[in-house]
Amino acid sequence: MMHRIFLLGPQGCGKGTQAVILSERLGIPQFSMGGLLREAAAGTDELAGRIRAIQESGELVPGTVVAEVLRARLDKPDCADGYILDGFPRNQDQYDSYAKHDRPTAVIVIEVPRDVSIERIAQRSRIEHRTDDTPDAIRRRLEIYDQDTEPMINNYRAQGLVREVDGVGTVEEVSDRILGMCTIQGGC
Ligand code: AMP
Repeated sequence: MMHRIFLLGPQGCGKGTQAVILSERLGIPQFSMGGLLREAAAGTDELAGRIRAIQESGELVPGTVVAEVLRARLDKPDCADGYILDGFPRNQDQYDSYAKHDRPTAVIVIEVPRDVSIERIAQRSRIEHRTDDTPDAIRRRLEIYDQDTEPMINNYRAQGLVREVDGVGTVEEVSDRILGMCTIQGGC
């Protein structure tokens, strides 16, 4: 079976960590949209500079740039047997642009209360020093999740693709829940 698994949830829900575990278990690559864009932002050209500035503000990078960066990654040969993508789509436009080509096989939504989300981001920024983990950018990212991402997820819910997971607990507890769901409940 070809997996095209999307991992969504508010910042700090543990998507990135869980994507790595799921990738090892299923033997398919994983990548995050934020990470792909950070790679694109590492260059010295004008576009790289623009992406970097947008990421630091917490706003979404323009859909045309996102679509191009994502398509380039999905066209790589290692995606031929499936992939796990974290942090895409984040709004209706991105949903529509992906829907023109394909459909995910499962959309895993990791749910955590807002205070847990904020505490985990604070911890992460102490360890990783992400330049976009400033209070203003964090607030903006969470706002975009509530306003744009949450409503967009309803499209997938209506298609029966959404698997909600409680993201509170240890890494192992959450990964057990995800792996359990991927093998029961119609798989991923
Ligand atoms: P993340 O690593 O998921 O926290 O994303 C970091 C930043 O990358 C976001 O605040 C956005 O600026 C950008 N980004 C990540 N995913 C997307 C996306 N699907 N669409 C637009 N911008 C994105």
